[in-house]
Amino acid sequence: MKISAASAGDHHTPTEAAWEAIRLSLRRSCGDRIFDGWLKPLALGECDLDSGEVRLTAPSAFMAEWVENDFAEQITAAWRAMLPHVARVSIVAGAEAPQRATFAVSAEPAPAAEPQPDAEASIPAGSSQLDPRYTFDSFVVGKANELAYNAARTLAEGGKLGFNPLFLHAGVGLGKTHLMHAIGHEYRARHPHARILYMTSEKFMFEFVAAMRAKDTHSFKQRLRNADVLLIDDVQFIAGKDSTQEEFFHTMNELISAGRRLVISADRSPQTLEGIEARIQSRLSWGLVADINSADFELRYNIIVKKLEGLPKGTVPDDVALFLAKRISASVRELEGALNRVIAFATLHNRPIDLDFAQEHLADQLRASQRRVSIDEIQRKVCDHYRIRQSEMGSARRAREVARPRQVAMYLAKQLTQRSLPEIGRRFGGRDHTTVIHAVKTIEALRARDAELDADVRLLLRQLEG
Ligand code: ADP
Ligand code: MG
Repeated sequence: MKISAASAGDHHTPTEAAWEAIRLSLRRSCGDRIFDGWLKPLALGECDLDSGEVRLTAPSAFMAEWVENDFAEQITAAWRAMLPHVARVSIVAGAEAPQRATFAVSAEPAPAAEPQPDAEASIPAGSSQLDPRYTFDSFVVGKANELAYNAARTLAEGGKLGFNPLFLHAGVGLGKTHLMHAIGHEYRARHPHARILYMTSEKFMFEFVAAMRAKDTHSFKQRLRNADVLLIDDVQFIAGKDSTQEEFFHTMNELISAGRRLVISADRSPQTLEGIEARIQSRLSWGLVADINSADFELRYNIIVKKLEGLPKGTVPDDVALFLAKRISASVRELEGALNRVIAFATLHNRPIDLDFAQEHLADQLRASQRRVSIDEIQRKVCDHYRIRQSEMGSARRAREVARPRQVAMYLAKQLTQRSLPEIGRRFGGRDHTTVIHAVKTIEALRARDAELDADVRLLLRQLEG
């Protein structure tokens, strides 16, 4: 099925309806300023829903490239939240767009740029775009993130610093970028003339490579060195990329020595960043390394409550908020996405939000966001519970005290993972898939008549589902 937006005339092909809702949700998730500057001008291009290809067009090649570079991930995620089978969203220059001759990153001003008071000291537009929504005030603190939060605050307050750099690490969608922007805002509020430079590591590489091509790495480095606070996000993308990596870490070293405040984020700890010299790793670990853990239920719920503060009371009833907090546990980003999606759909259909509505519109996401449990994790938990050794999961012993837990584990593997029966069998000492079927049936039957076993299984399910 090919749909061309231009020929679809009066709106509301399914794709167009989705696009409208996606725009709403992007506005919510990116903030008005970024949305109006970068995303609003995008138009729906040709979409092929069979192959899952979506095309958006931008008014210029420069803008297409920039949006692709900075927002592709967010845009794709927003599409998938709405239409899960979307495989790829590409952003291209519209047919009427002027074609660029050569591409120079820093030569062209960003459309949403704030006026730059002083060219010499100014930080390029892209980097001064701290997202206005990502502040300390809007960051909800819980057990999972209090160390990172406190460190970020200390660094942002600008007093004497006992550590540098601050290295934040956490899985995706847990608030690293949010905290970095918050540092930028806070520092700027306290030091209005401070130069704050926020960069994703992709942008760092992009600009560095462009500077090398233009044979002008000097001014690039100068710009970094001029920053009072330098925030570099997602450095795992730099790791392993030889010349950029080297340049990056040398510059970081100089900055640290010069007493500049440096904040680095990555999806893993400094010790596990690959392809980085030991010397640099240890330099990074001299600072403060703070990790952010997965949000627990309480934090998830508090985050929802916080996100709803700006909306009319009752927009999202409390039972729906509790439901989302309970069920969407993979990351805060997914939680937020689910919330945005429900609100966008309700706006689109002009319907109040209740539990049924939320369940219906989040079915795919609920399935996808269930914590992915591994067979190994299941085996470990089951063995812990029954106090047997994990090697018994694959052993040939048939004594009841190990055979039953083994069956429970197989049953849980079938319930909680996507693994096929033969695969599950293989992970239990190379057993046949019929053995797995037998185990599943046995436990199902036992659960109905053996209250103790049923309680065991419930407990394990609860623990494993998080
Ligand atoms: P990361 O950079 O770690 O992938 P982000 O900082 O982009 O994650 O966070 C994803 C989304 O979740 C953002 O919209 C952010 O505002 C939100 N978020 C994450 N943690 C919190 C928190 N503790 N309080 C409020 N919002 C949060
Ligand atoms: Mg991030």
